[in-house]
Amino acid sequence: MPRPQRRKNLLSAARIPPDVRTIVTTLLDNGYDAKIVGGCIRDLLLDTQPKDFDVVTDAKPNEVKSLFSHAFVIGRRFKLVHVQNRNEITEVSTYRRRSNRKSSHRKSHLNVYGSLNDDHYLRDFSINALYFDIESEEIIDYWGGLKDISNGQLRCIGDPSKRLSEDPCRILRAVRFASKLPLEIEPKLLKAIRKQASAISNLKPARLENELQKMFLSGSATNAYIKLGRLRLLEILFPSSGSQNPLALSAMQNSDERVANKKPVTLAFLLAALHWEQFKTLGNYDSTGRMSISKSVAVAESILRSQREVLRVTKQVRDFVVETWILQTRLERDRPTRIRELLAHNRFRAAYDLLVLRASLGEASSRMAQWWTDLQKMDLEEQTIAIENMKLTSRRKHRKHKQSVELLATPST
Ligand code: ATP
Ligand code: MG
Repeated sequence: MPRPQRRKNLLSAARIPPDVRTIVTTLLDNGYDAKIVGGCIRDLLLDTQPKDFDVVTDAKPNEVKSLFSHAFVIGRRFKLVHVQNRNEITEVSTYRRRSNRKSSHRKSHLNVYGSLNDDHYLRDFSINALYFDIESEEIIDYWGGLKDISNGQLRCIGDPSKRLSEDPCRILRAVRFASKLPLEIEPKLLKAIRKQASAISNLKPARLENELQKMFLSGSATNAYIKLGRLRLLEILFPSSGSQNPLALSAMQNSDERVANKKPVTLAFLLAALHWEQFKTLGNYDSTGRMSISKSVAVAESILRSQREVLRVTKQVRDFVVETWILQTRLERDRPTRIRELLAHNRFRAAYDLLVLRASLGEASSRMAQWWTDLQKMDLEEQTIAIENMKLTSRRKHRKHKQSVELLATPST
């Protein structure tokens, strides 16, 4: 067993939110051991705001639950307790150890309880196996995580091939951490990721979706997208999207900007951007809107069917993607009709966002993208005038077009 290093003065307990400290002290006061562990310690040491705080203890889930008024035992894979304080939920899990028993049940080894000295083996990366003792303010480091943090290295605990085949989700976690934090994936781990990439398609759809949400909706989607491309993981995750997809890259950049501006972001929008090119190609997309709705739906279905082999695509997501695509011709055409109805359409905003991204790549009319941008900034009265003007220009254009067609058709004398 590696000898843990104990280091003081790297982290002050004051940086742990009071509610989390209360959970730890409640456990300690009741005679249990409790530490703060995982991503939150890693993030605090890297001066990044942790998403959540995880507590680990020798108390069993039911014992934890009995100490708090708002606590729920959850989890099928792992049993753990969610302790709720106001709007924050803190995960409290029990120390685990690897089971020596050769069990016929693949996952049973994950739920055998142990002590702090066992728990660290089951964690994925050295930087995620740092335990913080709030009383002594010591960091307990079993696997050189502190050194890896200062050297900017993402390193597996144990043999990377073995750890990735135990749980292929670690492939995506590695990419995610290397995208959001100043860390390089160490060469041995990189090699194992390349070799075992295809295993990510065996992940349970809900788990994969959860991981992709964290990867793409937390402000470092662009980096993640580029890394996934280099590691040839994009073609596994989004089979019909292609690995060189400028619109997808723009959508990732846009997603990061939105996160930075605290605007909502969804995986469904990214799926619409990722597969747009394919939709256009298969459907012979035409900005004048000649693709029938039924054909659009059929093409969209065929694309989403291949996506479904890897990722869960709910009916809600499917509707979102299909409607966002179908609205493109209506927004892009030179003479839009039923403008008020379009503005009120519940998919208008997403379709407009996609149009703007396409226009910024020269792939859709920037004149129309600008027209819709301006329209949304107007008050109701100004909008009515702009819509009337659009109708007049359209009629004039239509008349001119008709005249030139007639002129061409008139035989010269
Ligand atoms: P973040 O919260 O930023 O996503 P995190 O590392 O805290 O990152 P969590 O999913 O919150 O990720 O997990 C908390 C801790 O549990 C991790 O730091 C790691 O020690 C352990 N862990 C999570 N998932 C795995 C896994 N698939 N394999 C091994 N250990 C894991
Ligand atoms: Mg976490």
